Amino acid sequence: MIYLKKRLKKVRKNLEDIMKWFYICNDFKNEVQMMIKRNELKNELIAAGIRPSVQRVAIFEYVRKSKAHPTAEVVHAALRDELGSLSLTTVYNTLKLFVDAGLILMLNIDDTFRCFDGNIATHAHLKCEECGKIYDFQIDADCLRAIKGIENYKITDMQIYLKGICPACKNN
Ligand SMILES: [Zn+2]
Ligand SMILES: [Zn+2]
Repeated sequence: MIYLKKRLKKVRKNLEDIMKWFYICNDFKNEVQMMIKRNELKNELIAAGIRPSVQRVAIFEYVRKSKAHPTAEVVHAALRDELGSLSLTTVYNTLKLFVDAGLILMLNIDDTFRCFDGNIATHAHLKCEECGKIYDFQIDADCLRAIKGIENYKITDMQIYLKGICPACKNN
């Protein structure tokens, strides 16, 4: 019995070691993937004619990753500690630079609220008037056909904003 207990203990110890290695390898894998992703973003900036400084890459990465349509203030608050001396003006100007280069979108759902979207594929937005969250909706390219007479025009930009109340707030 004691022998069996000892064996079990040893098996468990080995398993723990294997798991530990598994986690270390996984961490390493995640780190490498992050580095590859960051490098891709860097190249995207270079291709757009933007010098990829550490600050710019970090801001670009944050907005591209975020699904929350952050404002300049949110981006600033999230990166301030990591980047040290980073002013809100720098963040705003950097975001504007990316918008002008077509790398991210700026959403002006209303005059007082300006936020940014790393997802540049065509999609519709709804801002909930209760919680303020902005939701993404996929739209078909041929939804334009629903607009009578539009076929005579060449469309260069399409932004669809809706305001309303989200299901979570509606049920409260
Ligand atoms: Zn809501
Ligand atoms: Zn969006």
